Amino acid sequence: MRKKIVAGNWKMNKTYEEALSLVSEIDHMVRDEVNGEVTVIVTPPFPYLQPVGKLVQGNSKMHLAAQNVSEHESGAFTGEVSAAMLQSVGTEYVLVGHSERRMYHHEDAQTLYKKMKMALAQGLKPIFCCGEPLEERDADRHFEFVGQQLHDSLSYLSNEEFDQVVVAYEPIWAIGTGRTASSQQAQEMHAYIREQLARLFDAEAAFNTSILYGGSCNPGNAQELFAQPDVDGGLIGGASLKSRDFVAIIKSF
Ligand code: PEP
Repeated sequence: MRKKIVAGNWKMNKTYEEALSLVSEIDHMVRDEVNGEVTVIVTPPFPYLQPVGKLVQGNSKMHLAAQNVSEHESGAFTGEVSAAMLQSVGTEYVLVGHSERRMYHHEDAQTLYKKMKMALAQGLKPIFCCGEPLEERDADRHFEFVGQQLHDSLSYLSNEEFDQVVVAYEPIWAIGTGRTASSQQAQEMHAYIREQLARLFDAEAAFNTSILYGGSCNPGNAQELFAQPDVDGGLIGGASLKSRDFVAIIKSF
């Protein structure tokens, strides 16, 4: 059965001290207040991966993710961080294809496919992000657009590789804008994504894949979003920077 997951993407926020306070607050609240089965993922900036990972390692609900991984294995790639490096400091998950990476760093489908392969080869679990810009939704091409993103970066993975993948649907028009997708819009896209995954892999793999919603998810809308049958949790940006809000979202299942 697929996991319920709430992942907090801290992006380029927080100093070292702030990051440690945030994660210890989350850790305490998750221990004290979260009863059900839920996988909580924190995604700090690279320099804090190891200390944040150490802090959460005694909490079986909490897991560590990186925000990015290089498509190269090793070598002369100044500023890049490899999958093996991430694995060696205890990272378990990694974001691949976040719209900010696609937009500001021109990461295309081929690059993302290579990142997926690198991550998987090192035993990391990719959280593959997809989602349409506003023009595509307004033109009623959002299903086609997301279907293409899935096909272009995932279809060459084996079934065994795909078993390790989490998918996050993040409509670009909802990220950091305060404008969230309605629960109906999220549900219909998640159901569509699951259908596409069944075509690319098989029905069982699609059924077992966690599909997260991301885009201005907050304590006020998480419950309705997570109640949808194909929404298995959330990828949370802004609201993951406040421990109380993040934990309230975790408690929304
Ligand atoms: C994100 O960037 O992954 C995200 C969902 O951001 P926000 O929650 O701030 O919209």
